[in-house]
Amino acid sequence: MSTLTINNLHVSIEDKQILKGVNLIVKSGEVHAIMGPNGTGKSTLASALMGHPKYEVTEGEVYLDDENLLELEVDERARAGLFLAMQYPAEVPGVTNSDFMRSALKAKNDGQPIPLFDFIGKYEKAAKELKMREDLPHRYLNEGFSGGEKKRNEILQLKMLKPKFAVLDEIDSGLDIDALRVVGENVNGMVNDQFGCILITHYQRILDHIKPTNVHIMIDGKIVLSGGQELIEKIDQNGYEWVKEELGIDF
Ligand code: ADP
Ligand code: MG
Ligand code: MG
Repeated sequence: MSTLTINNLHVSIEDKQILKGVNLIVKSGEVHAIMGPNGTGKSTLASALMGHPKYEVTEGEVYLDDENLLELEVDERARAGLFLAMQYPAEVPGVTNSDFMRSALKAKNDGQPIPLFDFIGKYEKAAKELKMREDLPHRYLNEGFSGGEKKRNEILQLKMLKPKFAVLDEIDSGLDIDALRVVGENVNGMVNDQFGCILITHYQRILDHIKPTNVHIMIDGKIVLSGGQELIEKIDQNGYEWVKEELGIDF
């Protein structure tokens, strides 16, 4: 059982302040949806948590249990148990999916290589559960993948790496109905007392498949409203305008 604690997080990009004091506590077994209009700082939160160098933390703290994540490098954060599925996964020509996965697992395993036979078995099982193409292991990382294939590949990495916490950034974008269901089932299958998740989404549709325990609305770099699934339906029907009226804020 672990806790991810984000306390008063302020983040700037090129001296422009994007996050203006984000507070969030996520425990193992919980799924927190963060919803909000475009450009409100959701992906900035994901990148800052992972330690992207362009995102400067100017104030606040992030702890995974008693480990201060902001003091760690990107790879150290991953080893501490944090995983990010990116909104726009990168293509890496020259590195195959299976080589990438195997070295990521090795890094997580303090440099100990994973026995090949063991690896192949687990990789093929996970790929099958995600209904991915059979030539996947031998293709270059995300190269020429459709949007949906890239997203599934992120979830494949998630399933193999088994982090303590994952931040899934718009994992639903580019997915058709069937892929959405497959991705949803696989993420649901991960959630247990060793794993918690932050699910960033602009739309409610992925939340038909992954039921969050907590729902937060982020506007202008802050979480302005938190609740349960009732918020999802309200956003689905009314967008985000009502939030502004209800809270008496301008954005
Ligand atoms: P969301 O994910 O909620 O749509 P983002 O976090 O992507 O929002 O963006 C928040 C704000 O930060 C936007 O104004 C966006 O233009 C700006 N921004 C995000 N990433 C960068 C970047 N790498 N360089 C410059 N500005 C950025
Ligand atoms: Mg966006
Ligand atoms: Mg985004």
